[in-house]
Amino acid sequence: AEVATMMNMPTTGIISACMSLGIMVTMNQRLDAETLSIVADEFGYEVEFVTADIEEAIQEEEDKPEDLQPRAPIVTVMGHVDHGKTSLLDYIRKENVIAGESGGITQHIGAYGVTLENGQKITFLDTPGHEAFTAMRARGAQVTDMAIIVIAADDDVMPQTKEAISHAQAAGVPIVFAINKVDKPTANPDKIKEALAGMNLLVEDWGGKIQSHDISAKTGVGVKELLEKVLLEAEILELQANPDKHAQGTVVEAFLDKGRGYVSTILVQAGTLKIGDYVLAGKNSGKVKAMHDERGNAIEHAGPSTPISILGLDGAPQAGDKFHVFEDEKEAKQIASKRTQLQREQSVRTQRHITLDEIGRRIALGDFKELNIILKGDVDGSVEALTDSFQKLSTDEIQINIIHKAVGPITESDVLLASASDAIIIGFNVRPMGNARQVAEREEIDIRNYSIIYDAINDLKDAMEGMLSPEL
Ligand code: GDP
Repeated sequence: AEVATMMNMPTTGIISACMSLGIMVTMNQRLDAETLSIVADEFGYEVEFVTADIEEAIQEEEDKPEDLQPRAPIVTVMGHVDHGKTSLLDYIRKENVIAGESGGITQHIGAYGVTLENGQKITFLDTPGHEAFTAMRARGAQVTDMAIIVIAADDDVMPQTKEAISHAQAAGVPIVFAINKVDKPTANPDKIKEALAGMNLLVEDWGGKIQSHDISAKTGVGVKELLEKVLLEAEILELQANPDKHAQGTVVEAFLDKGRGYVSTILVQAGTLKIGDYVLAGKNSGKVKAMHDERGNAIEHAGPSTPISILGLDGAPQAGDKFHVFEDEKEAKQIASKRTQLQREQSVRTQRHITLDEIGRRIALGDFKELNIILKGDVDGSVEALTDSFQKLSTDEIQINIIHKAVGPITESDVLLASASDAIIIGFNVRPMGNARQVAEREEIDIRNYSIIYDAINDLKDAMEGMLSPEL
């Protein structure tokens, strides 16, 4: 309806233009950028995107190769509940062996850095779990370079272990396994490694390439060696950043402190942040008044891979918001307020995710090469059967990737993974659980439920051929 008003024509005209493109819309529905452009073009109008304009003001400074310097890896700890994620993060925090400063991390700011005896550094995100990790990714922020996946050696490779593995793989971050609780008499690390091998994840002592180390987060056995393996893996990634430019990075968390005002923890990913810099973070801006590290020390500069809590923003940005430094306070303020305004106008997210109905059209347009699917089923047999059949549907034009498959209901974390990886979710004899349905609506994720294998396969086949009649 809004577009119709702008072009001074009846709403029905827009609706039928959409229909001729194979898109069923109502007058209150928002159109994605691509559809808008095509529809406007049909009526001789050209679309100019205001969002793109204001974001263009944020110029990425180009780095010359000689400006790049090595930076510390940023690591997230994931794994099944009770397998020891928090214990491992606590142990590393306490035993931090920075010269002359044994441990002493006093504040939870959402991330912390440790320095090993050899002087090398690692930055840890202090919110364990793949949910937090993927929620950030769904908001467009990938800060993690590597994942430590903790598996308790007195237990098994559990559902959330498998989820964590899928989430890390979907993000393309390398995995280092920490086989935990080896101090327990019932621990059997080999059993875990065998189970991993059965999932095609061969760890080093099984002749594979994936790093793994037996540890006890309780006694500390093996933790140092685990961190050395993390650094080895990091070396392969050749992580670099230019410290000599305006800082940019991602917000890790933010809150309002009664005495101090808005406190935001940010992770500097490139450049160096200084006191007095004008910062834009999401819809907030402000001048950096003070910076503290996780030990509560006031600091003046923060370079790449440094987590830092800052004071001075005019509100609390969201975890996953990017931040940039501006020369000009006014410009930062302007962009912040434009973003707020745009968000108010577009209470619905503009970024749309793929749906089964659209696949055929997108393939025909030629801009769609890979279909990511998350598959949840009631029993292992049906999940495996569907995986096989779906994979066989891959063609030269389109590759089908099952980025996660498991037995169990569709969870919020599945939906976030779908959002972060632009996937559709197929449920076989299972339904969304808890918040999953609401989150799927908010993120506009297509969830399809089936109870007959043949139907699921046929729908996907039809969709790929552009033959699926839209679900109204
Ligand atoms: P999370 O849910 O993955 O964060 O797991 P926690 O770190 O909270 O650990 C769950 C339980 O396992 C706690 O009671 C820990 O004390 C215990 N735990 C964690 N690591 C070890 C370990 O290496 N050895 C032993 N014996 N217990 C551990």
